[in-house]
Amino acid sequence: MSKILSANKISMIYKTGEGDFYALKDASLSIKKGTLVILRGRSGSGKTTLLNILSTLDVPSLGSVVFENMEISKMSEKNRERFRRKEIGYVFQAVALLPMMSAYENVEFALRLSGYKGNRKERVEEVLHKVGLSKRMYHMPYEMSGGEQQRVAIARAIASKPKILFADEPTAELDSKTSLKVIKIFKDLIEQEEITVVMTTHDAGLFGIGDVCYEMEDGQIVKADDPV
Ligand code: ADP
Ligand code: MG
Repeated sequence: MSKILSANKISMIYKTGEGDFYALKDASLSIKKGTLVILRGRSGSGKTTLLNILSTLDVPSLGSVVFENMEISKMSEKNRERFRRKEIGYVFQAVALLPMMSAYENVEFALRLSGYKGNRKERVEEVLHKVGLSKRMYHMPYEMSGGEQQRVAIARAIASKPKILFADEPTAELDSKTSLKVIKIFKDLIEQEEITVVMTTHDAGLFGIGDVCYEMEDGQIVKADDPV
């Protein structure tokens, strides 16, 4: 399997009253196409910081991030934004569906913004089907459970066919059964959509469920478990 994304000795340094604070320190990892990668660690261990850098939302203080053959950490902000819109899907920790729009409209709206060239109606129905929400397409967010809203957010993030999907603690608010359902959806998407998924979790129960798991502690990757 070929490599899609790598981080090479990245650090994220914040200036504080007491001096420099390393939210990330010399973190390196390499992600293969078509895998489910899990970043696990306690709250404050640097998971969101790392995810935001890998997804090009943030630029590291030190080190480089390479996507396929491009060094994204060196791109201009404008190019990064263009790149992100085309190649990257992101599910934020707090699911932010537009409350006045149905599941269908939430996905359709995002697809329209992305400049998707294909048939939008078909694609919206297809991705909602893939996350198991065919029957709830016209429900409003307030009519759906947290797990269902989470699945709409996933459908929305993958609708425009990004190469890689990032999800920040997508199972944090879900019970263990619903969490496993979300993981199953990621695994199915990897098979059907040829996507790569990188997610974070603080749930020790999910360690070992991905193809590769990285354990984080105090901004460092302390353990890489690669059962592949
Ligand atoms: P996690 O997602 O694992 O809970 P984060 O990546 O959000 O951890 O945060 C890692 C550490 O960096 C935390 O100690 C947090 O307080 C600190 N941090 C995150 N963002 C900032 C910021 N903008 N300024 C200063 N410190 C930050
Ligand atoms: Mg976080």
